[in-house]
Amino acid sequence: TVRVRIAPSPTGNLHIGTARTAVFNWLFARHHGGKFILRIEDTDLERSRPEYTENILTGLSWLGLNWDEGPYFQSQRLDLYKQAVEKLLEQGLAYRCYTTSEELEALREAQKARGEAPRYDNRHRNLTPEQEAAYKAEGRSFVIRFKIEDEREIVWNDLVRGTMSWRGSDLGGDMVIARASEEGTGQPLYNFVVVVDDIDMQITHIIRGEDHIANTAKQILLYEALGAKIPEFAHSPLILNMEGRKLSKRDGVTSISDFKQMGFTPEGLVNYMTLLGWSPPDSTQEIFTLEAAAKEFGFERVNKAGAKFDWAKLDWLNSQYIHNMPIDKLTDLVIPYWQEAGYKFDGGRERPWLEQLVTLISQSLTRLVDAVAISQLFFSDTVEFSDEASQQLKQEGSVAALKEILTVLENQPLSEAIAQDIIKQVVKAQNVKKGLVMRSLRAALTGDVHGPDLIQSWLLLNQIGLDKLRLNAAI
Ligand code: GLU
Repeated sequence: TVRVRIAPSPTGNLHIGTARTAVFNWLFARHHGGKFILRIEDTDLERSRPEYTENILTGLSWLGLNWDEGPYFQSQRLDLYKQAVEKLLEQGLAYRCYTTSEELEALREAQKARGEAPRYDNRHRNLTPEQEAAYKAEGRSFVIRFKIEDEREIVWNDLVRGTMSWRGSDLGGDMVIARASEEGTGQPLYNFVVVVDDIDMQITHIIRGEDHIANTAKQILLYEALGAKIPEFAHSPLILNMEGRKLSKRDGVTSISDFKQMGFTPEGLVNYMTLLGWSPPDSTQEIFTLEAAAKEFGFERVNKAGAKFDWAKLDWLNSQYIHNMPIDKLTDLVIPYWQEAGYKFDGGRERPWLEQLVTLISQSLTRLVDAVAISQLFFSDTVEFSDEASQQLKQEGSVAALKEILTVLENQPLSEAIAQDIIKQVVKAQNVKKGLVMRSLRAALTGDVHGPDLIQSWLLLNQIGLDKLRLNAAI
């Protein structure tokens, strides 16, 4: 059965690139009825933080990328890596290298002077026990290196990129699999522990970003050395900005929690990420759930070329989810943004009223956070008049019409029909155009000359007793 994994390092918040890789893994697992495994790669003790782990778990759950196993933590599996290092040492496939950083630096300088690419020259590959003892006596520390033969050909059939072919000599000499530490086996490094874990967790398909291609070449050699079956590899395209460069913080795109803060729905965001490098067989179909995408997902429709991050498209998708969401659910999602903005739910702003307000504004929302600006006028007693609204209130007949509205409104419960009626009455009594009455009413009630449906806005303000207050303030 298919077993895939996402293996984030908790050295930062859940990044959009990692999340997109998680999406592809999740889709592939679900398509094949396989397992999606979560592994936290926290071997870098200095840079790993529990709050980043928390952010990653929360972010994946929020996106709906539920995992079947884990989270496993590499920091709790050190014995396994140690054993694997020992095994390679015993078999003579790895060795202790005592080359100092000064010696390595000198080597690099010499290679540079000759116009060669930097690589380790495997000088400690065949140390005699006496030489080793001498280095130890000098007090040198060591790293563990894994032997890579220059002539080795490494070929795999990448599920996205087709035949990939590397030579051992491309890989920079014998690779360090464990760093210096007190222990005889050192502190194991990324390229090594990933393989040990992927073998132990019986991962069948490794789906990750194309920035890992060179690692894959090295890792294949480690699978062989550890006597394990080599999994399938699929390297997904990088996410690029609209200029075609690798997406970075400067593009305003960072972590999933930032996207949440910016008002994206998990459904809209995850739908968009699905399309970052993949398209369904019917490419006119752009709005779908993760489950629906999983039915269609396969690597034959994953692009080799980088995927451009298109904010307009993301916004459009997000707005579709918002516009088609049940009001009850949308209200739940909007409330935290209002709270964040300091809006209070007092003075009659109870759940039914809040839902009416959400109904009124829902079709104008692209991001959930837009609800804050659009509904500000419903949460403060007073409004500030825009220049256009002030102008409107200075129009001939404006104030008289508003006074008339107030008079008719007095002691009368408002309904949609009554509101329409009041406006008709005023038009007649003042002998003015309906447009003038409507514009003046809007200016007085909202402080602006455009905005959500006027009658509905009025009804909402009336329910919390703000309409008379504002009309009085405007005349
Ligand atoms: N911890 C690695 C990363 O976050 C995992 C890469 C892999 O999937 O092997 O890039």
